[in-house]
Amino acid sequence: MERPDVFVDAISRLERIGEQAAISPEIIDSLRAPRSVHIATLPVRMDDGATRYFQAFRCRYSDALGPAKGGIRFHPGVTKAEVQALALWMTLKCAVVGIPFGGGKGGVVVDPKSLSRLEVERLSRAYVRAMADVIGPDRDIPAPDVYTNARIMGWMADEYEAIQRAKAPSVITGKPIELGGSLGRDEATGRGAFLVLQDLAKRRGLSPADTRVAIQGFGNAGSRVGRLLQEAGYRVVAVSDSKGGVFAKAGLDVEALHREKQSTCGLGGIYCEGSVCSCCRSAPVEQITNAELLELDVDVLIPAALEGVIGTENVDRIRASIVLEVANGPVRSEADARLDERGILVVPDILANAGGVVVSYFEWVQNRQGYAWTLPEVRDRLQGVLAKAFEEVWGVAEGDNRSLRSAAYVTALRRLEAAIAAQGTREYFVDPAGH
Ligand code: NAD
Repeated sequence: MERPDVFVDAISRLERIGEQAAISPEIIDSLRAPRSVHIATLPVRMDDGATRYFQAFRCRYSDALGPAKGGIRFHPGVTKAEVQALALWMTLKCAVVGIPFGGGKGGVVVDPKSLSRLEVERLSRAYVRAMADVIGPDRDIPAPDVYTNARIMGWMADEYEAIQRAKAPSVITGKPIELGGSLGRDEATGRGAFLVLQDLAKRRGLSPADTRVAIQGFGNAGSRVGRLLQEAGYRVVAVSDSKGGVFAKAGLDVEALHREKQSTCGLGGIYCEGSVCSCCRSAPVEQITNAELLELDVDVLIPAALEGVIGTENVDRIRASIVLEVANGPVRSEADARLDERGILVVPDILANAGGVVVSYFEWVQNRQGYAWTLPEVRDRLQGVLAKAFEEVWGVAEGDNRSLRSAAYVTALRRLEAAIAAQGTREYFVDPAGH
């Protein structure tokens, strides 16, 4: 059977949860399609003098709660449907944590690891030239995502400022500190996921030393959450990246793995030649595949790579009791009900990985204030925002007997509903007699 595309899948989950929670159909209607999607072809001069053309997207999904906000992905698998789904999830994510942003997302169809550094720079600048009219500090604010990082955001902000002939650091977040980036932005997604898991651990009485964790994806988000978990005493038994994974029953030294992998990275730490698979030659580890990692007998499974890795084909083989969605959309909607039936607690992406966009919001605020916060200030405020969101979502889940995913969607949709209603809905414009 052919899988529905990721956007169709995202909309069917939205409709199902909206209907179960009696969210006004007008609100669901307003979220069925993005406000705009820009598609561009980027001509980029290669080092050998030839020009190559790359397809690029920028989607502004909703601005009901504020300017659109969302990362830019460089990956060969990028599609319009994927960008739209990611932008819808950004809309819900900003709403669930209560920050004044809508949702957006961008992407380029490219294997960035096959490009030289100069080619990646030219591609990044070409993206901004193509999208300069649709992005902006009050319109749509990009950030890093898969295979993009602070250095790339720095090039993009610089290109935007060259076009505008003015400084405009708040056009992009996740920049290098020297160009107006926020302290704590690089760690924010992983730290946020860690804080959410800590809140859950308190509720569920988990003891770190007895909690075995497996992490799929050892990039910015996955490696950071792994290191924080190790520091807090959790036993991280498996990690993987695009080349495969490693497993050690007694636990891995995640910090050492990170250091070793980073030493093989170019472009300020993103495109690593080495893999976690080749990092542990001296330690007793077992090599595993990405599919095997998902099915390990662990307490917490953290998918932190790409979307759609858990569906009907493997849902019955998932053995973790908690799935912490650090990636966006790692569970397809077809598997939601089965995970619930099996008593597997899923902490949804729109809450679990929201730390990144919360600190992006802090960066945007600091840029507009022209005043930088200290790292403890950023961390404290991040913790405050996420603790409040977790309590709210947990309260809805307990009060209405819902899964955490459904509770997070309902929390977000109610906030969007209130903002959209404040502009006037049918109820306002049509009197009770129907005139
Ligand atoms: P990254 O580029 O830093 O890392 C991606 C990791 O995934 C790498 O280790 C890569 O090797 C691995 N990977 C790629 N393809 C894979 C595959 N087929 N199987 C297994 N591993 C694979 O990206 P990131 O920023 O850490 O993003 C990871 C996930 O987290 C994405 O879903 C992203 O949307 C989500 N996310 C990121 C942020 C952020 O601030 N960076 C915020 C929220 C959500």
